[in-house]
Amino acid sequence: MLIRQIPIRNALSNYMYLLACEETLEAIAIDPLDHALCLKVAEELGWSIKTVANTHHHHDHIGGNEPVIAATGAELVAHVEAMQAIPNVDRGLQAGDTLKCGELNLKVMDTPGHTMSHICLYFSGAESESPALFCGDTLFNAGIGRCDLGGAPELMHQTFVEQIFPLADDVRVFPGHDYIENNLGFTLDREPDNQSAQSLRAEFKAGLSAESYVSTIGLEREINVFFRLDQAQVRTGIAVSLNTDERELDDQSTFVGLRRLRDEW
Ligand SMILES: [Zn+2]
Repeated sequence: MLIRQIPIRNALSNYMYLLACEETLEAIAIDPLDHALCLKVAEELGWSIKTVANTHHHHDHIGGNEPVIAATGAELVAHVEAMQAIPNVDRGLQAGDTLKCGELNLKVMDTPGHTMSHICLYFSGAESESPALFCGDTLFNAGIGRCDLGGAPELMHQTFVEQIFPLADDVRVFPGHDYIENNLGFTLDREPDNQSAQSLRAEFKAGLSAESYVSTIGLEREINVFFRLDQAQVRTGIAVSLNTDERELDDQSTFVGLRRLRDEW
């Protein structure tokens, strides 16, 4: 699979993606908010956009659909339950569906939590190419999406337990926003001794570019505090910050507590 990760450099630091089949150069555009830039990049690469896929209905993900479709005739796909919220969806997707483009196959994951109807797209890898997850506002580098814009943190936790935590360490993570530096700050606020988060933050301070940085699930297990619910420092910190008895905290309440603290951080 050919992947182009395109930072939009707007106030919300959105990413959009172009994914193309190596054989046919037919492409999927994921959340192409900056439609002019998306079309320009596709043209420069010689890729022809056949599908526009939205991870969820928020405006910063669907705002570029119309002009991209007008210019390319692409089919619009989204979560079947987001079809009322997103204008002109041609085809609704459900868990387990395969999104095809040329020879390229992506598995549709139904991942509620940020919104109630959110999909991630999973590429299972190929010879000498590791798997990849296009995760919208479900999983970010070193963090997770908000749950107060039409979602629910308990459901987000369930999504992570059932679908994100079990992913293999070599899965590359391609999120909907570039929030890694801020998120590392939150991980270190909760877990000041986290060596992996410290050293990655130092690399960014020394000039590593965040907007082209690609993490993996294996790295997320180290630097993303939402993956680290059983760490003593995390659990104790939640009990102190939320003024609750640590013995009453389980993984879900720790996750929900982290999300609440992150909202206010
Ligand atoms: Zn969103």
